Amino acid sequence: MKVKAFLNHGRWLVECPEDRKHYNEVSPGQVDFICLGCYPDLRSVLYRQRTDGLLEPVPDEAKREITKREAKHHEIIFPRDIPAIMELLRQRNVSEMNWLPGETLADLKAENTAHGVGSTVPDVSIIEGQVD
Ligand SMILES: [Zn+2]
Repeated sequence: MKVKAFLNHGRWLVECPEDRKHYNEVSPGQVDFICLGCYPDLRSVLYRQRTDGLLEPVPDEAKREITKREAKHHEIIFPRDIPAIMELLRQRNVSEMNWLPGETLADLKAENTAHGVGSTVPDVSIIEGQVD
């Protein structure tokens, strides 16, 4: 199943298409994901005794591999213009770094303007009295 990624508080997320309750963090460039909520064994650990007698958690690679093979993989669809989106959102506080599929760069620019976010450097075309 194909799932569209969206940006929430500066993080790229996908909604689990199986239960629509889990949100998984993903990275641009990542082609697919397995829901960590549906398949918690992807983070399975074993406890190994250290030389000082204490136990330390280590990844249970065998269990993780089996889970990965059996789990449903979902294809991720990212927007094409991530650099341009990030350029506009970088100017905001992290809690306002949000983007949803369908939102255009013009929408983001308008939101930035409405909230007084963005460059405070005046447009050079309006500067008068040039000295040479
Ligand atoms: Zn899930």
